[in-house]
Amino acid sequence: MTRTESPAAAPAVPAVVVAVDGPAGSGKSSVSKAAARRLGYAYLDTGAAYRALAWFVVERGLDPADAHTVIDSLPDFDFRIGTDPDGYHVFVGDHDVSGAIREPSISAVVSVVARVPAVREFLTALFRRIMVTTARPGIVIEGRDITTVVAPDAPVRILLTAAEEVRMARRSAELTSHSAAVVGEQLRSRDRADSRVVDFMNAADGVITVDSTDLDFEQTVDAVIEVVREAHA
Ligand code: C5P
Repeated sequence: MTRTESPAAAPAVPAVVVAVDGPAGSGKSSVSKAAARRLGYAYLDTGAAYRALAWFVVERGLDPADAHTVIDSLPDFDFRIGTDPDGYHVFVGDHDVSGAIREPSISAVVSVVARVPAVREFLTALFRRIMVTTARPGIVIEGRDITTVVAPDAPVRILLTAAEEVRMARRSAELTSHSAAVVGEQLRSRDRADSRVVDFMNAADGVITVDSTDLDFEQTVDAVIEVVREAHA
């Protein structure tokens, strides 16, 4: 079973959906969360759902590369994710897995779980339910296939990119206990695996690219908010 934090009734006016895609280390999670906070919108990190499923499979002692086993475990995947940018947390059953899903051991296997089409359909349906039930005026939803598959009709669609060396440097600054070389290799191999499933390196038609290579964090958040405002001008 899966459920959202507060399964509110669908609001009378549908929430403005801001879809954000981008590669690992592009800063899309922290930027999307900050943009949601400033706009008063909800925030949904779809990567966290894929990570939570990978955690669940590993925790059960199952092989994440065995697609049938992963699919069979979906009905038992009791998952909850917060959509408040200020109180963000992820639960599987009674376990708060918000920290555990960021461990390198989970990052290393999440792509093999995420490449299974039935997993993607299952989680896409969940994301769409969360999108339509948010009680806030809008929701920033970020991942890899949000602009193309999950919410291709969103009024605001953004591809957040940054040069590879900048992404690696940002990620290794976050994970201080890991060497830059190890972090760089993990990030490259995850992007390689993920981009075989969805193209998140090139903007689809109508998707606006925000390149943060030469921007600091606040400037990137400003750039995203500017795109949202322009879409509503
Ligand atoms: O965004 P994050 O790096 O936390 O995502 C973790 C993993 O989840 C990605 O490497 C990818 O395999 C998967 N993912 C996906 N589609 C999304 C979001 C994440 O396949 N929309």
